[in-house]
Amino acid sequence: MKRVPAFVTVLGLALLSARTISYPTAQPSVADTILVNGHIVTVDARFSTAQAVAIAGGRFTAVGTDAVVRKMAGPSTIVIDLEGRTAIPGLADGHLHDAGGGPGVDFSRARTMADLLAAVAARVKQSRAGDVIMSNSDWHEAQLTEHRLPYRRDLDTVSPDNPVVVVRGGHEYILNSAALKKWNITKDTPQPPGGRITRDAQGELNGELVDRAKALVQVPPGPALTIEALIEQHKLLNAAGLTSIRYPGASIEQFRLLQEMARTGRLTIRVNQLMRFPAADSAASMREAVASLHVKPDEGDEWVRVGGMKLAVDGGFEGAWMREPYLEPWGEKGTFRGVNTMKQAPFTDVVKELNRLGWRVATHAVGDAAVDEVLEAYEAANAEMPIRSRRWTIEHGFVPQADQFPRMKALGLVISAQDHLYLAGPSLVNYWGPARAAPTTPMRTYLDQGFVVAGGTDSAVVPYPPLWVFYHFVTRETISGGVLGADQKITRKEALQVQTINNAYLTFEEETKGSVEVGKLADLVVLPEDILTCPPKHIEQMKVDLTIVGGKVVYRRQ
Ligand SMILES: [Zn+2]
Repeated sequence: MKRVPAFVTVLGLALLSARTISYPTAQPSVADTILVNGHIVTVDARFSTAQAVAIAGGRFTAVGTDAVVRKMAGPSTIVIDLEGRTAIPGLADGHLHDAGGGPGVDFSRARTMADLLAAVAARVKQSRAGDVIMSNSDWHEAQLTEHRLPYRRDLDTVSPDNPVVVVRGGHEYILNSAALKKWNITKDTPQPPGGRITRDAQGELNGELVDRAKALVQVPPGPALTIEALIEQHKLLNAAGLTSIRYPGASIEQFRLLQEMARTGRLTIRVNQLMRFPAADSAASMREAVASLHVKPDEGDEWVRVGGMKLAVDGGFEGAWMREPYLEPWGEKGTFRGVNTMKQAPFTDVVKELNRLGWRVATHAVGDAAVDEVLEAYEAANAEMPIRSRRWTIEHGFVPQADQFPRMKALGLVISAQDHLYLAGPSLVNYWGPARAAPTTPMRTYLDQGFVVAGGTDSAVVPYPPLWVFYHFVTRETISGGVLGADQKITRKEALQVQTINNAYLTFEEETKGSVEVGKLADLVVLPEDILTCPPKHIEQMKVDLTIVGGKVVYRRQ
């Protein structure tokens, strides 16, 4: 529990619990910090604006005019003059794995195939014979002018001897010939269930391993996750305007590190974490996995909280499981509809078991056939024990179909949506054709259908800046493919809700954060321009001036 203000009575103290935090109604007279002379977009129910806010004990204690708020300043109050700038509630990312980077070869700034291969070549030079060369995952071929992956033959030209494993997003590896040889992957290797070994037009292995085929490769373990590494990542996220994130599937060890950070005052971002056991594919193994966690569903506080269990039923960009085949040649003459990583029967069993155990489920489902599978399982669970008010989610939901909306609504599902199209637009058009790819992540349709949609990035699959999400959702611009699905634009006010209060709703915290209102957690971002009225292109380039979490400045632009 956090520090309890002195004016909370003994009775009030007894009523406080880690789960439900009640606020004193009496206003403390002196603020720790006030922000004045600003244009504060509160994102409250009326979308009202204010000039100033007061903060005490980590929460907003006044939201209003300069005159009212200045009265709450004492001799030791920190006064921040916004000089007319815009402030918004702290931004949230509902689906963020990590901030990217890492010790592998960095492709994030590569813009051509030659750039990418040069980066591999440079690493080969520093390596010894037999060393395995890995890349970082935070890049996508749509950022290359060639709009295609580096394949085995490309990689062989710069690394004939050292095994190379190119990691692309969370769903795929591309290997050179030396790496295929090292792990004995040949044309005779059977296609693993829930995965795929890809071939080129001549029927030769092109080095690409999708989803569960990645298990054919035993990569050296990455660096151990440490508090120091998490602090570095959170600093980057704070600088981009993020004050809350939801980790879509991580280990109990990470959760314990985050709790330790909160306990010792080193956490600068609020964290909700989904748990993940990719190998638990039966009710019994999931029950065992859950028992090993020693945490209860939704356990936690305003800093670190368990958010449920992450499951997945299909691949990513190149493995989304679709009702209709991919476009040729990817459709392989009408036979390829993507990758189903977990079959209906075991998935339904696991979902029902989690519901019995009181856990919420968040399922990665990209394609429409994947959403069909999720709905069937969620409906089966719902028939045993209602899930309607529990805010179960579909993570991603790229191409939902009209017949799925009423079923999603009946289950009270929340949509966790990201800006994949911004990065990968041209690739998705190649895979699925323009008619299916352009409306990817149909934000307008979701909102018009009455869904609560929580926004995010899927970083490091897509870069983490939340203002790029905002920019993409309001313009449907992509990095290298122009506007896609213009009729799916949402308004700037809606985008702000999607990235603030809707994310708070996703984690059952809309009463405590997500807008600038008295009694709520003082999470706030100051921007150099008015995000609601500035030219759209400015949003994409905008730098955050100041980020405040729980009343403390966690980032200030120099
Ligand atoms: Zn993800």
